[in-house]
Amino acid sequence: MVSSIESSVGTERKVVTELPGPKSRALHERRQAVVSAGLTNGFPIYIERADGAILVDVDGNQILDLGSGIAVTTIGHAVPELIDAVSAQVAAFTHTCFMVTPYESYVAVCEELAALTPGTHAKTSALFNSGSEAVENAVKIARLATGRQAIVVFDHAYHGRTNLTMALTAKNMPYKDRFGPFAPEIYRVPMSYPFLDGLSGAEAAARAIETIEVQVGAHNVAALLIEPIQGEGGFIVPADGFLPALSEWTSSHGVVFIADEIQSGFCRTGDWFAVDHEGVIPDMVTTAKGLAGGMPLAAVTGRAELMNQVHEGGLGGTYGGNPVAAVAALATIKTLRDRNLVGRARELEKIMLDSLRSLQQDVAIIGDVRGRGAMIAFELVQPGTKNPNATAAKSIVSYCNQNGVIALACGTGGNVIRMLPPLVITDEQLRDGLSVVAAGVRAAG
Ligand SMILES: *Cc1c(COP(=O)(O)O)cnc(C)c1O
Repeated sequence: MVSSIESSVGTERKVVTELPGPKSRALHERRQAVVSAGLTNGFPIYIERADGAILVDVDGNQILDLGSGIAVTTIGHAVPELIDAVSAQVAAFTHTCFMVTPYESYVAVCEELAALTPGTHAKTSALFNSGSEAVENAVKIARLATGRQAIVVFDHAYHGRTNLTMALTAKNMPYKDRFGPFAPEIYRVPMSYPFLDGLSGAEAAARAIETIEVQVGAHNVAALLIEPIQGEGGFIVPADGFLPALSEWTSSHGVVFIADEIQSGFCRTGDWFAVDHEGVIPDMVTTAKGLAGGMPLAAVTGRAELMNQVHEGGLGGTYGGNPVAAVAALATIKTLRDRNLVGRARELEKIMLDSLRSLQQDVAIIGDVRGRGAMIAFELVQPGTKNPNATAAKSIVSYCNQNGVIALACGTGGNVIRMLPPLVITDEQLRDGLSVVAAGVRAAG
């Protein structure tokens, strides 16, 4: 089996060339000629193999991964269970199209989703290829099931880049600029952003609800769509009580509560789902990123009485729930469970928060440190203010990259550094990565 081959990847960060190295630079030349300029690479080192939290590039540099390919490789790279499951499935068959002839792994993934997502009610799922596609389908289903059209989304939200999801996403550059016209019947309301608004969860929820009632009318709203912890928008953790108050309002007005857990789901936040933290039970959950260990798979899971209202043939797609991706999801879920990675995410939270909070005491550019589990970020400000400092964020990311660490920026103001390490990262690796981040912050401050 593939997994029995000795891994040649070390466990330490090791920079052996300038970054990007000569072979990466040569590949990048080739890329410029044939890959659309509309796609960018945060860090153009070309990866050859990976193991755990270490990526190895074509020049032999060992890079510490604090991004997990944007919260995807939560279980780390080169996990034997995943390699075996995927290899065996590729050998057995790669595709039939679930809508033509089904297979067991699709059903088994939906069983896992029903068991793991919040609430003990009857649930059904539909599987897709990308997060955007899952969000689009959740909106389709909510509109059909309620007979209403309006969709409520939040400031700083990110829900994808397809036409409907661009409309749901808040930020113009780079996601929406000149790509319109956008889909109608999308309404944006204020988010709870404790660092900037200072409101309690109840106050922020009252503000959002009032906006909806005044500007849209509860009886027109099909769904309220929210990331329980916002991802691209800046790892914004709403104040306690915000999500429960919204959930209560939606259920008393026949509005479908959709939790977009595409970034926050699957153990990332120290719970299976971020809404679990406050016991919120959404009507529908969208998942993708951490679900299948790097294989493209996404899902909408919801109350059976909503999901099953869709007419026969109303949902689907050629590749959705592809068998290779489906067995990867089963192996991923098994790994998350067997290795208690929920618990590990909580340990990583403590290491990251302790380190970043003590750094915050020493520098004037960190305004806020926040997040849960292994979804932790700090917001960079102009000293003495809460004004965004995107220049510092850029220089920290670049310092990290030069020193062999992948760190990602996010935030509406481009001024938040987020950390999403694979949950199998060792304490030693994480401390090493944090020391590079701290040196980058000091250099920028
Ligand atoms: C990444 C993301 C999406 C879009 O997923 P894609 O697979 O990139 O289409 C949607 N919602 C959230 C919260 C995300 O983080």
